[in-house]
Amino acid sequence: MSKRDSSDSKNFVLRPGVTNPTLWYPERPPKAQWDSIRKVVLERDEYTCRSCGHRALKYMNVHHLEESGENTPENLITMCAACHAVLHIGRSLELKVIEIWMSELPQIEIVQRSREGVKKGLTLSQINKTLKLKRGPHSPESLLYANELVHGMGEAARAYLPEPMCAVFVNFNRWQLE
Ligand SMILES: [Zn+2]
Ligand SMILES: [Zn+2]
Repeated sequence: MSKRDSSDSKNFVLRPGVTNPTLWYPERPPKAQWDSIRKVVLERDEYTCRSCGHRALKYMNVHHLEESGENTPENLITMCAACHAVLHIGRSLELKVIEIWMSELPQIEIVQRSREGVKKGLTLSQINKTLKLKRGPHSPESLLYANELVHGMGEAARAYLPEPMCAVFVNFNRWQLE
């Protein structure tokens, strides 16, 4: 696996957020067609996460950029599973793979440090102790973080938690980070 730095990531700023419920689960074309669109997107992006620069041939996701639900390559970008989990905190909190904390570190650095730590054999809780975390207004696993964003977003396609709120990985599959 070659490693790229984040300057390759085309200015995508990773923040924990939610998508407007009207845009959840956009309709997909038939499987064969969807698979070929996915392949076009992954190959265009060289199997590299457009947020953190992680490159892997397996387990990469595609994310709807404008969240219009349009399944065109222009509207889709390659995302690693970790960055994608940050972009959809409602679902990730429900699955209990992330928690929301306050950190002085940028979200992207939390993703990168988590991946590096896992590669070195550290556990997520060992890694998280190095992230200078402080408790936010709700308990770290609370769905209120997502629900409040959804209720306050109106017609917007996406809404994001303000800094210094960050998503931290607590029960993420190692293979999704490696
Ligand atoms: Zn990523
Ligand atoms: Zn997405």
